[in-house]
Amino acid sequence: SEGISQPDAPVQAEGNATDLFSKFDSLIQQREALLANGVEDPFSLVMEKVLSPTRAVCNGRDTILLGTYNYMGMTFDPDVIAAGKQALDDFGSGTTGSRVLNGTYGGHRDCEQALREFYDMDHAMVFSTGYQANLGIISTVAGKGDYVVLDIDSHASIYDGCALGNAEIVAFRHNDIDSLDKRLGRIPEGAGKLVVLEGVYSMLGDVAPLKDMIAVCKKHGAMVLVDEAHSMGFIGPNGRGVAEEQGVIDDVDFIIGTFSKSVGTVGGFCVSNHPKFEILRLVCRPYVFTASLPPSVVATAATSIRKLMQGTEKRAHLWENSKRLHGGLKALGFQLGTEEPQSAIVAVIMPDLERGAAMWEALLKEGLYVNLARPPATPANMTLLRCSLCAEHTAEEVETILGMFERAGKAVGII
Ligand code: PMP
Repeated sequence: SEGISQPDAPVQAEGNATDLFSKFDSLIQQREALLANGVEDPFSLVMEKVLSPTRAVCNGRDTILLGTYNYMGMTFDPDVIAAGKQALDDFGSGTTGSRVLNGTYGGHRDCEQALREFYDMDHAMVFSTGYQANLGIISTVAGKGDYVVLDIDSHASIYDGCALGNAEIVAFRHNDIDSLDKRLGRIPEGAGKLVVLEGVYSMLGDVAPLKDMIAVCKKHGAMVLVDEAHSMGFIGPNGRGVAEEQGVIDDVDFIIGTFSKSVGTVGGFCVSNHPKFEILRLVCRPYVFTASLPPSVVATAATSIRKLMQGTEKRAHLWENSKRLHGGLKALGFQLGTEEPQSAIVAVIMPDLERGAAMWEALLKEGLYVNLARPPATPANMTLLRCSLCAEHTAEEVETILGMFERAGKAVGII
């Protein structure tokens, strides 16, 4: 049966029932056991100096970055940096207020204008993070008596948006059109329905069959939200995402995105053509009850978004990188998250957490940083080494990376 995959429910440990931290005991023990083997803690690495979108100094060593969401390499773009510096000088370091009070500067409006241009849509609303964009839009749009229908492998921010609202939650099997159809068919006649999908699922890097799924949503009269966090700037002729690539962007009611990936800074947004969209600014709690982004951040975001509109060549190179890495790792005998490369994420499946952590450390010693991902973030209890490519990785760097994987994989006994 399809339950809703929430992070592991904390098990009440025996013993000290008054210590509210006892619920974390099993996690503390698991972590201590892992570190007792002498491996470096994969979740507390420090970037001592960042040299470029693809290089940093970690543990004193020049390291290739293959585990960032810097897909389009915008973090060191000279125009982006100049815009941020100028905004710091002109507007100061922060707004110290909510978007609906003193926290809307010209830069916030300009950033929303850049998003409307990028997506060719009527409305854009900028949030302080992508996490808050999902939290806010889902919880505000789908209220009591409404239904949210979501993919079981949805991002935590989507689940948390559901938890914040009062809607009924129904999950369907990952990327399964029939399962979506059945779940929608069982919802009472006349009830409000919001289907939440992602363009690229970030753990395995697989793409959703949005065209067919959205047709099913329309058949049932459901509104559709697509989180395009991992496709913005890269997938689709204008980098608008998987919905654009599959020709169904006009059928999507809300696109959620983030500035923390291709845009190269921090922040989140929702774009829409819904005629009543603007009312959300007054009723969406994660928009109203938090401080707005600093002027330097919205200035860098707006500059970056406008540059991404001219990103055709970079997009083509990023696809080459993804294909080269995916093909190379497959040829070395690694088990990958998808048969063919579908996005800028290539997930390498590890046999277990211990060997995953050992492999992660071996790669770091080679001078390569990747993301170690483990349950509950991953589907089916998998341990993954997630590689995410950047348009600034050179073809030679990808070859170097493959050599590192080969040596580390042999040393740890995975290939
Ligand atoms: N949606 C998805 C699918 C994500 O992967 C993420 C972040 N990894 C977010 C939303 C949240 O984005 P942000 O980092 O801007 O909070």
